[in-house]
Amino acid sequence: MSSIADNVGTVTRRIQKATLDAGRAPGSVRLLAVSKTRPAEDVRTAYAAGQTAFGENYLQEALEKIDTLGDLPGLEWHFIGPIQSNKTRQIANAFKWVHSVDRLKIARRLSEQRENTAEPLNICLQVNINEEDSKAGCLISELPGLAEDVLGLPNVCLRGLMAIPDPDQPAPELKASFERLAAALEDLRQSHPDYRGLDTLSMGMSADLEVAVAAGATWVRIGTAIFGMRH
Ligand SMILES: *Cc1c(COP(=O)(O)O)cnc(C)c1O
Repeated sequence: MSSIADNVGTVTRRIQKATLDAGRAPGSVRLLAVSKTRPAEDVRTAYAAGQTAFGENYLQEALEKIDTLGDLPGLEWHFIGPIQSNKTRQIANAFKWVHSVDRLKIARRLSEQRENTAEPLNICLQVNINEEDSKAGCLISELPGLAEDVLGLPNVCLRGLMAIPDPDQPAPELKASFERLAAALEDLRQSHPDYRGLDTLSMGMSADLEVAVAAGATWVRIGTAIFGMRH
């Protein structure tokens, strides 16, 4: 087996164990393999090992891989990087999910530009959970208004929240950050009791997936633990 195939197995077992340890339902946490900066061949290798969902941060790089790998049935592409408003048309139509929507303008454009014949684009609102100056994402205090507006858009389906916590904070603060995101999702659910789509917490990366799963992650986004260190 290639090391990528080994790593898919290892990460899958880490997720299974974390899910069990948290007393959560088997299969309730999905693995998003983050293939940014990696060649299409690495994605093909992970796919051969059973991995179908891949996350990309850079549009141009992603479009090339999506094109190269068009022969693989059931591949599912997720956009997880910063979004410039002049790139929304391509993002709206090349991906099944976008995890990194952080303002209404972007959500509106994705909805307007998603082809009407396609099923709605799954989106998460990205939250700047540690209120870092350098990081994208809305504040928790902005979520109620933003979610309300996004729920009115026809061609996007609001699925939940995403965050990239400050990796340098001590373990208890990191855990608290994931828990704050989970609590924010629960608040949104309670404000929209008739809307059943809010089922997603995109949080947890290679170094902290166990902590994120314990706090309720449903997608963990894993790069280096599958593909190795980025160069
Ligand atoms: C790169 C990246 C990841 C993966 O991080 P690793 O530490 O390599 O697992 C996850 N989420 C986002 C948004 C990223 O940009």
